[in-house]
Amino acid sequence: MTDAPKYGFDTLQVHAGARPDPATGARQVPIYQTTAYVFRDAEHAAALFNLQEVGYIYSRLTNPTVSALQERVATLEGGAGAVCCSSGHAAQIMALFPLMGPGRNVVASTRLYGGTVTQFSQTIKRFGWSAKFVDFDDLDAVAAAIDENTRAVFCESIANPGGYVTDLDAIAAISDKAGVPLIVDNTSATPYLCRPIEHGATLVVHSMTKYLTGNGTVTGGVVVDSGKFDWSASDKFPSLSAPEPAYHGLKFHETFGALAFTFHGIAIGLRDLGMTLNPQAAHYTLLGIETLSLRMQRHVENAMRVASWLENHPGVEQVTYAGLPSSPYNSRASSICPKGAGALFTVALKGGYNACVKFVEALNIFSHVANLGDTRSLVIHSASTTHRQLSPEQQTAAGAAPNVVRISIGIEDADDLIADLDQALAAANG
Ligand SMILES: *Cc1c(COP(=O)(O)O)cnc(C)c1O
Repeated sequence: MTDAPKYGFDTLQVHAGARPDPATGARQVPIYQTTAYVFRDAEHAAALFNLQEVGYIYSRLTNPTVSALQERVATLEGGAGAVCCSSGHAAQIMALFPLMGPGRNVVASTRLYGGTVTQFSQTIKRFGWSAKFVDFDDLDAVAAAIDENTRAVFCESIANPGGYVTDLDAIAAISDKAGVPLIVDNTSATPYLCRPIEHGATLVVHSMTKYLTGNGTVTGGVVVDSGKFDWSASDKFPSLSAPEPAYHGLKFHETFGALAFTFHGIAIGLRDLGMTLNPQAAHYTLLGIETLSLRMQRHVENAMRVASWLENHPGVEQVTYAGLPSSPYNSRASSICPKGAGALFTVALKGGYNACVKFVEALNIFSHVANLGDTRSLVIHSASTTHRQLSPEQQTAAGAAPNVVRISIGIEDADDLIADLDQALAAANG
């Protein structure tokens, strides 16, 4: 796969990053289940450690199966390079790590995956970092929140719990003007539906746990770098622009150019934080990505049919799906994710909290789990599970009001999903 960019998405999702195995000719990417790699000689070892030659030393840093996946995701996102990590949450820390430092902050959207809100509002404080949460529909507020200590802007393309699409072009213009990178979590959209780099994102992060692997078998994450940000334009990003004390004074941007962030992520991020993806998980994710476009087409088609049906059901108060013409984000979806608004949305039931609990229990095909982006259809009543500790006001602000269930539509027969929802709604209202 040389000259990869001339191929279409469906070809790249199968081939990018993969070559017949040089040792055996194996056509599928082998699982290189090894910790270490034998150096050819002392000179080879020295060149690898000096980053003068790209190769394999130790699997906390690099592994051929993981490298194939990195190249595949970077290609699908239109990025210069990528670093795989052990989970989506690890990828978020790995994305922020070279940019932040004590006293620095990230300006983040209020509409984020619940776990990210906790990571940003609580846990990163231990590193001396902080987050400022802003309504990303209020562009003036986003611009005003960026101060001299801001080192990144963070949002999701199609945001959890579904139904919201971020105006990436507008947010990228604000970040750009302020000289800080825009990080976009593209988990719910996938590069098939949305390519954030084309809308101005600097870095793209994923929980590969979701649609990229696609079948609920692994936890994994990735950070893709566009390679387009000028880390040396200001003195804000010394880890990349100035001599890096954690790598004997190497200047990553000067040395690696568009691959500065990727090399830093591997040589320092994975080396010292150790949030490495294992080769078995990388293999499952490579297999999953081979069918990404086919699955996403069906996810979107099913979501559209199910959301339209639910919207007309008498027991339903509201459906927040950006694919529906009734959604305030419908026109934005057609510019940010023209192939579909994903397959994640929420449904508010007229019967309130009790109806939601009965509804979730009565479903047969849908599984009640804290996950999304599986081939299987999934449902969760956040108010009685993940958001149980919050007050009703806090639940409502988080899009998890007591009468709301979140639905992740799978790739089953849409007629079967609708029949299942129909009987469960009857049970909920009966
Ligand atoms: C699941 C998820 C995460 C966290 O990913 P893990 O792989 O569970 O660590 C982050 N962002 C979004 C949008 C997610 O759906």
